[in-house]
Amino acid sequence: MPDLVCARCRGALQTPEVDGHWTCGAHGRVVPLHAAVPGEHYHLADAASSSGVPVWVPWPMPPGWSVSGVRRAGGTGPARAVAVALLGPGLAARQVELVVVAEEPGVGLGASYAGLPTTDPGPEVASLPVDTTVHTGGVSTPLWSLPVSDRAVYVGEADGRWLWLIAWPVSEWMVVHDDLRLVDVREPVHRAALIDLRVGALSPRLAR
Ligand SMILES: [Zn+2]
Repeated sequence: MPDLVCARCRGALQTPEVDGHWTCGAHGRVVPLHAAVPGEHYHLADAASSSGVPVWVPWPMPPGWSVSGVRRAGGTGPARAVAVALLGPGLAARQVELVVVAEEPGVGLGASYAGLPTTDPGPEVASLPVDTTVHTGGVSTPLWSLPVSDRAVYVGEADGRWLWLIAWPVSEWMVVHDDLRLVDVREPVHRAALIDLRVGALSPRLAR
């Protein structure tokens, strides 16, 4: 499989033919990350059809928002992490970008978009006060914000997986708020609605 890179650092990988694992020179055994693809409904449907983790999309989509790409991590089996990028109007900034990641523990894709050198949030997160509560599949999901200077980073757990929401610029942190509702488009009822989503140009942030 060409173009697979480290989910943590985007570095080149040693393929499994060598020792049975995808290996990054900096991070050792890692989950391989596929190239980002645009947000057309068939790309989202394809990601959803082969994912072991939720593929979260805001629904209903806030006015003026579009899907600007999807990217998955995993070898030959089901995806172990999926990131969906969204672009919309900000309150102060002209544009806000939001990347939503669902992942298994230890993958590190969310942390990489958050600009953090770790894979998973530390246990200290749960000792902090909850910052906001979004809805995932109709379930209230508390999120904690992590201190990152140039972007807003929220993390929590939804459907047994890590949920990361990362927004740029940091001044638009309020894009993640108590009325934000995410649905898992792996569910057929939601997959049918994908065709109605607006699609934007592929996000350079997602693709990098
Ligand atoms: Zn790496």
